[in-house]
Amino acid sequence: MKKLTKEGYINGILKLFYIMAKNRLRIPKEFELLGHTIIIEWNDNLEFDEEAYGLAECIKNKIILQKPNKQYGVTQVEETFLHEVIHLIFDNTSHRKESKNEILVDIIASLIHQMLISAKYTKENDLIMKIKSKK
Ligand SMILES: [Zn+2]
Repeated sequence: MKKLTKEGYINGILKLFYIMAKNRLRIPKEFELLGHTIIIEWNDNLEFDEEAYGLAECIKNKIILQKPNKQYGVTQVEETFLHEVIHLIFDNTSHRKESKNEILVDIIASLIHQMLISAKYTKENDLIMKIKSKK
């Protein structure tokens, strides 16, 4: 019988959470924000090179994200993505002071993440949206 290591055990739990979570946030390759096209770049070593899991480069219209790994799970990637989006929103709307408030940025990102991940939909919701988008 193969002995289960601590890392293997943690990895197994992470995989289980991933399967259990029905709603995942799809991280796009790009999106529009205030007339800017924001590009998302993935990096293998951001956590070591920059000591950060994400970077928002306002002038370059770019978000750089650390790829998920054994220690850094998918939920954290999703929250980091939203965290960097909040930075860009503040930076692009002349709210530099708010953008420097990491706790405020984190609270907003976490709450938006919670709302999106816990959202429940029915077929009726989809139908309503289809009818409205046909206008
Ligand atoms: Zn930040």
